Amino acid sequence: MSELVLVALVAVAQGQYVRSRVNDSSSTSPCLWWKEGTEIVYRQHQAGNMEIMDDREFTEVREAFDAWNTELGKCASLKLTEGARTTTTDVAYDSARSNENVVVFKTKRCTVAAPATAACWQRVDGCANEYQCWDHSLTAIAVTTTFFSPNTGQIFDGDIELNAAPNSNGSRFIFTVVDSPPCPAGTGRQDCVATDLQNTMTHEVGHLLGLAHSPSRSSTMSAEAVPGETSKRVLDADSKRFLCEVYPKNGYAVQCVLKKADSQLGVTARGCGVVGVPATVALVGLWGLTRRRRKGT
Ligand SMILES: [Zn+2]
Repeated sequence: MSELVLVALVAVAQGQYVRSRVNDSSSTSPCLWWKEGTEIVYRQHQAGNMEIMDDREFTEVREAFDAWNTELGKCASLKLTEGARTTTTDVAYDSARSNENVVVFKTKRCTVAAPATAACWQRVDGCANEYQCWDHSLTAIAVTTTFFSPNTGQIFDGDIELNAAPNSNGSRFIFTVVDSPPCPAGTGRQDCVATDLQNTMTHEVGHLLGLAHSPSRSSTMSAEAVPGETSKRVLDADSKRFLCEVYPKNGYAVQCVLKKADSQLGVTARGCGVVGVPATVALVGLWGLTRRRRKGT
């Protein structure tokens, strides 16, 4: 009997997590990773979300980061720290200045906020930063943008945007912070769970740390979610294991395309070519948004 139980436990423990890659469609593409020992400082935009009372949005966002930070503290070398509130809404990586990893609600669509003739439409980064607007899929609740070296996969910056912008028919995501009950279908109030902020943010922080979507429906990193859902607030075992295995305490961050015998090459690659390497940007959204990429910046 005891052997049977053991087998079952092992089977559960060996579930899968999926790492983000420079090119997710290629199994030989470098995985994305933060340098071992990095203290990732995130900053919430000072405006928060005006619909949520008593500044509770800031608390919920912090709790989402804390869920990961608690596990990091047990077995991993990374650390997540909240910095002072920020005034920038820019999704960007600026290696020449002090860079910010921001969390920001976007309340306007770019097609509404920016004139059709605006020069920013011609730029690689579009009008999102200049007009502080949402330029992603209207069906995405949130998007995490990571800036990384396309050569090594090392991440230098991660920014999270939350979609609070009305679409053309006026519907939008209502972010809520209560634990229950689920809001009736098609409604969104603050005394029930519509789009749970902590649920959403916990998922997005997983992307920030280098996780892609998991095929497991019960995972925090599942791409699927339903209105009223709060289950992603609690990290699943596979996502926890990712932290311990990829960012081992007192060890190097683990890169996935290098064979063990080539580990010295990995160390060398990590140590060079960081400054001045054009970062590639990857966008990861929750709720059916497929990953998007832009070259440049
Ligand atoms: Zn996602």
